[in-house]
This record gives sequence, structure tokens and C-alpha cells, in this order.
Amino acid sequence: MTLTSSGLYCKQGDFHIDPWRPVRKAVVTHAHADHAYRGHDRYLVTKAGEKLARIRLDPASKIASQDYGKTTTVNGVKVSFHPAGHILGSAQVRVEYKGEVWVVSGDYKLTPDATCAPFESVKCHHFITEATFGLPIYRWPPTSQIFEEINSWWRRNIERGKASVLFAYALGKAQRVMSGIDRDLGPVFTHGAVERLTQAYRESGVDLPPTKYAGSVSNKKDFAGSLIIAPPSAQASTWLRRFGTQSTAFASGWMMVRGARRQRAVDRGFVLSDHADWPELLTAVRATEAETVYVTHGFAAEVVRYLNETGMNALPLKTQFMGDAADDMLDEESEPDVVKTEPSAKTEK
Ligand SMILES: [Zn+2]
Ligand SMILES: [Zn+2]
Repeated sequence: MTLTSSGLYCKQGDFHIDPWRPVRKAVVTHAHADHAYRGHDRYLVTKAGEKLARIRLDPASKIASQDYGKTTTVNGVKVSFHPAGHILGSAQVRVEYKGEVWVVSGDYKLTPDATCAPFESVKCHHFITEATFGLPIYRWPPTSQIFEEINSWWRRNIERGKASVLFAYALGKAQRVMSGIDRDLGPVFTHGAVERLTQAYRESGVDLPPTKYAGSVSNKKDFAGSLIIAPPSAQASTWLRRFGTQSTAFASGWMMVRGARRQRAVDRGFVLSDHADWPELLTAVRATEAETVYVTHGFAAEVVRYLNETGMNALPLKTQFMGDAADDMLDEESEPDVVKTEPSAKTEK
């Protein structure tokens, strides 16, 4: 594998992985905007992520899909997908040629998630890892605790006759939030961007509570006591007015950082991430037994330094997986518009 101006490239197989400039053959790890770019001639995606890819990419694109664990051989190069545990259909790409194995992990997490297949560790010679939350301060609280916090926040708002507006990235995070809420508390409404992707999750076999598109409701009163799930981009819009008296919250790994909570100007922050925290990152890297670790995204320099200090051979890799802040479609946590300093263990206001 080499890094070209278009992205990670396998010369022998003549394909790119998550390329950011138009190429002939793109193997795509998952449907987030900074990995699944439009404009490639052909795509190879996971079977589990195919519906999401078809929503996100040009409908006319040529998209082929492959099950996790299945291998195709391209000019002597074996290519297979392995679950990354990040969002529905997310994969690590394993590439083997003449006994040399590379694994491109895309984005991943080890924390169990009811909306996608669990991360699978794959042994390799060369491992490419993300480092979105690659600092020792990032340690996720147990998911069950976060869902309890979300449910009790919602319950309190019901008692006070308020709507609960929860901002979560439309692809992945929104559905993960739904998977953990108490379905008996009340109705769940969605922003259009969330609703469409949620429907694709259901069609892909993920069990989620019933939701209703908020745009189909005209009476403000109907929203009191309900939960509304919307993408972060809806926060600055007049869209919110329709919900009347409301409490707002944001679900993201960045909510561990007090500055980010303040910047988001929400009433509550819930620490819920689709990326590996520091211990998960080290666990995943070590389990590969890789002789070389390439680190990209986020805190690459810090992770490289730590791995080298602990006797591993690590190098930073300059990719463009951070995405483009100007891109409306960019809706995942690696969105670089939040403060990354002022760590705080507090999750409550
Ligand atoms: Zn992602
Ligand atoms: Zn990413």
C-alpha cells in the first residue's frame, strides 16, 4: 500500500481505499462522508453497509458489495472486509499479497454497539489506525451509564412538559442513541436527514424503536414530552422553534471536553462515541501484532510517540480523512469544528 494524492493505493491490485479524489476502483470502509466520496468509477463496499452507501453516493454509481470475511482476488491481491464496530456496515480492509498483510482499519471502536457487528481483530504486518481520540484523557464511561443519563434527562423533561432535543450525527450516532433509549417513555421524532438513514438501518435488519418524521407533525403541543433526534447542523436553524419549550443535548465523544460542551451551547452533553477511546486504541493496535503501525486522523503525532516509546514501530500517515468542514455531508465525530482542549471527566452540568 502506498499513499498517493488520491488516497491509500494498492498498485498490484490497482485500487484505492477510501480515496478522496476520483479514481477508477474504490474500496470503501464505511459510508461517512470523509471516507465515502462521490465520483469514483466503481465501488466495493460491505454487504451490511450497501444500503447506506447507496443513499450517500451518486445513485448512478457502480456499487458492488461483499460480505465480511469473504475474499476476492484482484490480480493476485486478496481483499476482504472485517467488522470495525464503528457504524452499520463499517469495515477494516485486509489486503494480502504474497504473504504480506496490510489492514486498513478505517474508523473503529471496540465498545459493543447494538446497531453494528462487533470489531474483529485481524493479525497483520502493517496496520493503519485512526487516532481521533488518541489521548489518554479519552476513556469512555460504560455505554449503559450513558443511556441511563439520556433516559433520566428525557424523563425529567417529560415531567416538566418539555420536548427533549438530542443532537447526534445523522449516520450511526443517531441510530445508536435510538437503540439505547427507553421505548416506553414517549414518542420519538426525527429530522429528515436522520429519518432516511434510520429507515435504511431497519431495512438492513437493525431493530430500532418506531420514529416519526418531525416535519409531518403540525401541532406544537404534540412535541411536549417527546424525544427529537436531529443532526448537529439543525441546531443553528429555525427548525427548532416548532418544538416549543425544550431542553437540548448533544451526544458525542467530544462531550468529555468541557470547552466543546460550552461551544455547542446545549443544556446537556452525553459522552457517546463511535470511535475507539485511548485504551481501546492500544488494545486494537497490540492485538494486530503488526510490525509497523501507521497512524492517521486526530492525535496521530501523540499516538505515534506513545507507541514508539513502548517499543512499537509507528509512523504518522497524512491522509485527508479529517474531511472538509465546508462539506455539508460531513456528519461524523471527526468533524474538526469542536474544541479539543480542556479535558474534564465531568459529564454532568
Ligand atoms: Zn466514520
Ligand atoms: Zn472518519
